[in-house]
Amino acid sequence: YQAKRGCEGVRRWSASLDRHDSQQLSLLAGLAAAIDGEQLRLHYQPKLQAADGRALSVEALVRWQHPEHGLLSPLTFVPLAERTALIRPLTEWVLRRAAEQCVAWRRTGLDVAVAVNVSPRSLLDDSILELVAQTLTETGLPAHALDIEITESAVAEDPDRAFRTLVGLHELGVTISIDDFGAGYTCLAHLRTLPVDRLKLDRSFVSGMSGSAGDEAVVRGMIALAHDLGLGVVAEGVEDHATGERLAELGCDQLQGFAYSRPLPPDEAVLVLQAMAGEAAVAHDRGP
Ligand code: C2E
Ligand code: MG
Ligand code: MG
Ligand code: MG
Repeated sequence: YQAKRGCEGVRRWSASLDRHDSQQLSLLAGLAAAIDGEQLRLHYQPKLQAADGRALSVEALVRWQHPEHGLLSPLTFVPLAERTALIRPLTEWVLRRAAEQCVAWRRTGLDVAVAVNVSPRSLLDDSILELVAQTLTETGLPAHALDIEITESAVAEDPDRAFRTLVGLHELGVTISIDDFGAGYTCLAHLRTLPVDRLKLDRSFVSGMSGSAGDEAVVRGMIALAHDLGLGVVAEGVEDHATGERLAELGCDQLQGFAYSRPLPPDEAVLVLQAMAGEAAVAHDRGP
């Protein structure tokens, strides 16, 4: 009886590892090798200045060129990595690769900065300051050409530590953006004191703008708030030009979205960057 019950216990346990979990486990098992083995890729999506349509900055977005599953979205593996120690080498790889790429572009005369997403766990990791400083030194990327995108959840989780880290990053000279702004529970009291440079309005408000007066009111309010606090504003997820033009009219500083460019591999992104280095205005310079 003992033995039988024991067996049932094992069976029940393995049944509880459902298909979903076992897929995630096998992905995780492959991720460490992927980071070492050159299976990760960075795609780059330009951010345009609303005032003149020039693209002076790109966001680096990671993908995994999986040997069996093809090109995987970060949504399938970054949250997994974030729950394990793998987030550290992932963040390290992304920072390094993005910095090297940006340096290479700058050497060709492109005046471009790169933004890197740093997950809450990495931001709250003690070694993040050293990692960023070392990356800048070793790649030769000027600090002002690196932007770190963080989410509100990192600040919510440990406000004191997040604050100290952000102060340290600012002292290095890198800029800080709050990503997906408005999507989480924002503590406006924190926002007032945090050393951040800009807010990225969450795509959910931006994509709803054209059909909803309420969403436009929220966006207008967030732009005013950012500017009152001395921060810049980026709209993410701009999928059509009409929305981009409206955002520019509302005073939004930068625009990012499929309307202008999808995230692209470096050899394609550079062509867009070159084309948009002297682009005409998004909203104001419509011409006769
Ligand atoms: P995010 O940082 O908010 O990045 C914006 C996401 O919106 C990207 O998805 C981008 O491809 C997508 N996007 C851009 N424009 C549009 C648009 O006009 N319409 C729509 N529908 N989507 C648009 P992606 O590349 O799948 O990345 C998803 C998330 O994964 C990112 O959201 C970020 O949170 C995370 N992520 C990506 N790369 C990294 C990374 O290197 N490290 C970390 N920690 N997280 C990353
Ligand atoms: Mg981002
Ligand atoms: Mg975002
Ligand atoms: Mg987002």
